[in-house]
Amino acid sequence: CGIVGYVGGQSAQDVVVAGLKRLEYRGYDSAGIAVLADGGLAAAKRAGKLVNLEKLLVERPLPTGSAGIGHTRWATHGGPTDVNAHPHHDNAGRVAVVHNGIIENFAALRAELTGRGHELVSETDTEAVAHLLAEAYAGSGDPAEAMRQVCRQLEGAFTLVAVFADEPDVVVGARRNSPLVVGVGQDEAFLASDVAAFIAHTRSAIELGQDQVVELRREGVVVTGFDGRDAEVQPYHVDWDASA
Ligand code: GLU
Repeated sequence: CGIVGYVGGQSAQDVVVAGLKRLEYRGYDSAGIAVLADGGLAAAKRAGKLVNLEKLLVERPLPTGSAGIGHTRWATHGGPTDVNAHPHHDNAGRVAVVHNGIIENFAALRAELTGRGHELVSETDTEAVAHLLAEAYAGSGDPAEAMRQVCRQLEGAFTLVAVFADEPDVVVGARRNSPLVVGVGQDEAFLASDVAAFIAHTRSAIELGQDQVVELRREGVVVTGFDGRDAEVQPYHVDWDASA
C-alpha cells in the first residue's frame, strides 16, 4: 500500500518510519521496515497499526543504518499477519523487498522456486520476488540488473523496492502499473509511493516511468528501462503545501 526507501546520512529507520506515517492516510493492515547495517540486513514487521511496529522497534531496536525500506500493507494475498507483513526476504536473509500491487503469476514462480530448493514461509505473492532477486543478484552482482531481470519475469501491477546486504549504499526500485516517485536530496535520496513521504526532506522529485528501474545512491540516481536501456529523467519541483 505505502512504500518508502532511503539512502543517506540520516538514520534510515527514523526517515523510513516518519515517511510511513505520512502515508498512513492510505489505510493499511500491517507495517514493516528493513535497514542495511553492520554488513547485514535487520528487519522488523508487525500486523496492525504503525504503533505496533514502533513498539517493537523500542523493545528490539534495529542497528543504525544509512539505507532502508519500509511498507504499509493492504493485504491481497495472505491474511494480515506478522509473517505476511513486508519486507520479505530470501532464505539467506541477504535481500529484502517491499511491494505494492499484485504479482499475477506468483503461484507459478513460487512452484519454480520451491523446485529449486527455496523455502517460502508466507502466503503472499510478494515473497517469491525476494528469492528471485537473490538468485539474480548471485548471478550478476548488480542490484539494478537483478531487479530488471526479475521484473521481466513478473506479470501484474507492482511497485517494488529492495535492498541487498552486500550493497550497503544502494536501494533499488521498479514499477509497472503502480506509482513510484524518487526524491533527490543533498547527499541523500528517497523513494516513495507518494511524495508526501519525503516532502519534509526534499522537493526535487522524479516520477519513475512505466517499466523502469531506479538505482538510488547518496550521490544520485540512475534510471533504466526493464530492457536495460538508459532512461531520460525529468526532475520536477513539488510545490504543494506539505501541511495540506
Ligand atoms: N499483494 C501484496 C500482499 O498482499 C501487497 C499488497 C499491498 O499493496 O500492500 O502482500
